[in-house]
Amino acid sequence: MENSTKNKQENSADQPQAYLERPTSPDQGYEIARKALGILKEAGHEARLAGGCVRDRLLGLVPKDYDIATTAHPEAICLAFKQKGVKTVPTGIDHGTITVVMKGVALEVTSLRSDVETDGRRAKVVFGISFREDAARRDFTMNAMYEDEQYGLYDYFGGAEDLSKKVLRFVGDPLLRIREDYLRILRCFRFWARFQFRPDDETLLALKQEANGLAQLSQERVCTEIIQILSEASIENVVEAMLSCGVLEQVLGFRPSLKTIAQIDAYKSITKAERSGARLALLLLEYPRKDELGEYLKAFRLSGRQIQQILLWLVPPSSVNVGKDLATPMQVLDRWQRAWPQQDLTEALAVYQLLYPDASEPRVLAVTEKDFGMRRRQPMPLKGHDLSKDLGLAAGPLLGQLLQHLLESFRNGEWQTQKEGLERAREYLANAGTRPT
Ligand code: ATP
Ligand code: MG
Repeated sequence: MENSTKNKQENSADQPQAYLERPTSPDQGYEIARKALGILKEAGHEARLAGGCVRDRLLGLVPKDYDIATTAHPEAICLAFKQKGVKTVPTGIDHGTITVVMKGVALEVTSLRSDVETDGRRAKVVFGISFREDAARRDFTMNAMYEDEQYGLYDYFGGAEDLSKKVLRFVGDPLLRIREDYLRILRCFRFWARFQFRPDDETLLALKQEANGLAQLSQERVCTEIIQILSEASIENVVEAMLSCGVLEQVLGFRPSLKTIAQIDAYKSITKAERSGARLALLLLEYPRKDELGEYLKAFRLSGRQIQQILLWLVPPSSVNVGKDLATPMQVLDRWQRAWPQQDLTEALAVYQLLYPDASEPRVLAVTEKDFGMRRRQPMPLKGHDLSKDLGLAAGPLLGQLLQHLLESFRNGEWQTQKEGLERAREYLANAGTRPT
């Protein structure tokens, strides 16, 4: 039972340890969350901002959403807001969470709760205990703080100090806390990736020891966390730790190589969604069952376009044996375009060059999709019958090979006029040991 957890730094007085600053720039979410605190107080309940939003405020960041913890039970939460004409939605009523919508902003209002029974995935909860007990069921010390209406900060487990030291520490014994809910392993890596805070040694050990427990979770929950981790910049160290703890192998189903994972950081203008897609592709480069990759990727809840993009990087159209044959980017683009005519290939090409660095000759590195598209539309000024006429070549396999060679070199910008093309053809035939007439 969680309320028996005792932490070294547990702070016993239930009064603020410090006061937070009011936001200097307007933050509508914060103002609305404070109004919600007022409504609950007026109805006779205690209420505080809780968890991630308090952490973000301490870090000087604008929270992306606000959560409230209150002594009110779920029905009382609904009643208090309904009396003020505010819409409530019982999103997670079994766990005491009511979504309150004020001026278009959604707030999660949750009854104080304690997890009395856990099985690694779900918890049975009881409501209306103390803020301290509510804090004790939260994952990390930095996520277990509260702020009241007077800007008072309640920090029962030394979260503010851990924040200043940039340390990720579980509330209580990491091993026990992970066994209650294995998703916490991935949450730990997610916060590490986001804030670059390191778990302490005891926590790292526990992550490693319990990595197998991730198998109990649904693929969807795991994949949602993975995608969030991969969307952050500069996470090489985090992904390396996930690999050495056995977490990556557990969630991906095979042991990936991390050769190129850091290179995506070179692309500064990339969006979070693009970054996570590209990183996932880098991780899956050596995925052993490429023909099942489309099915495998479904669990990651990516958009159809992202899935198509990853397949495009990793499952080359049948005629291209990229990676082994070291096709030039131009050749690859050519095949991609035939297979996926609707796709914008600029980003795909940039990432392709990371995936298969050996395939990128400096000469063609600068190829962009626009450039490529332009050359594609330009017809080659030499046809089979020109070659037969001028070089006396009969139809057959050699003529086919020559045409293919000419097309690729033409698209690579290696020749332009018919005269240059014929010279190129003569060279090719000479190298092939065939004398043109
Ligand atoms: P984010 O900014 O990504 O939303 P967050 O800290 O707000 O980060 P949420 O998933 O929104 O994370 O959860 C809100 C709070 O609920 C957390 O700060 C934490 O106190 C608690 N919490 C969420 N998930 C867990 C969990 N699996 N185990 C323990 N506490 C959790
Ligand atoms: Mg949150």
